[in-house]
Amino acid sequence: MQNKKINEAEQKNNKAKTNKDKTNQEVKLNSKEIVKRLKERYPDAKCSLDFETPFEMVVAVMLSAQCTDERVNKTTPDIFKKYKTPEDFAKIDIEELEELIHPCGFYKNKAKNIKKCAKEIIERHNGKVPETMEELTKLSGVGRKSANVVMLEAFGNPQGIAVDTHCKRIANKIGLSTQKEPEKIEQDLLKFFDKEDYKDINHLFIWHGRNTCIARNPKCNECVINEFCKEFKKNI
Ligand code: SF4
Repeated sequence: MQNKKINEAEQKNNKAKTNKDKTNQEVKLNSKEIVKRLKERYPDAKCSLDFETPFEMVVAVMLSAQCTDERVNKTTPDIFKKYKTPEDFAKIDIEELEELIHPCGFYKNKAKNIKKCAKEIIERHNGKVPETMEELTKLSGVGRKSANVVMLEAFGNPQGIAVDTHCKRIANKIGLSTQKEPEKIEQDLLKFFDKEDYKDINHLFIWHGRNTCIARNPKCNECVINEFCKEFKKNI
């Protein structure tokens, strides 16, 4: 009797595991198709921040927090003409830096972090932007999202998926993640997308969010991945 109960429980567990694996597998297959379709829809998807060196990328990505890439790109040319290296930024007068980056918003905090980060790069990494997520995320003002962007754009070595406001919205709407915190959403996405797709998905979700899955007015009927979207299915 006891053995029969144990067997039944085991069978139940195995069935639940099989169903979960099956669901994961289905979403995995859809994820490949999602990448394919979005690539066809946005063949030119790429990073829209302008930069020439890894350190310029670090500065640009810090300025892009709560600001559009377009505005950052209008602001950085004048700065990078005069200040380029971590040494330049470590020495810059904080008030001058605040004024230069003022159009990007949150200028006091951003100026403080840029200066601090420049000093840390000089002291800890001999003036070179580190090339690992672990070291990047220890720098002032560089969170996981920024570190992901730097690893991908400056070093061509994506380690994850930068979860910005577009990525977060799309992941939740499609149903790839039910989480709200970017780090947790990223962990869910990393389970479903292959490493070889990290680069594309970083760019594609941003372009899809800007052009089709727009926050206030998503164009669901013309969305190339609507058949995989939980939110879309809910509304038909
Ligand atoms: S179907 Fe609509 S909500 Fe879903 S991903 Fe496309 S645009 Fe976004």
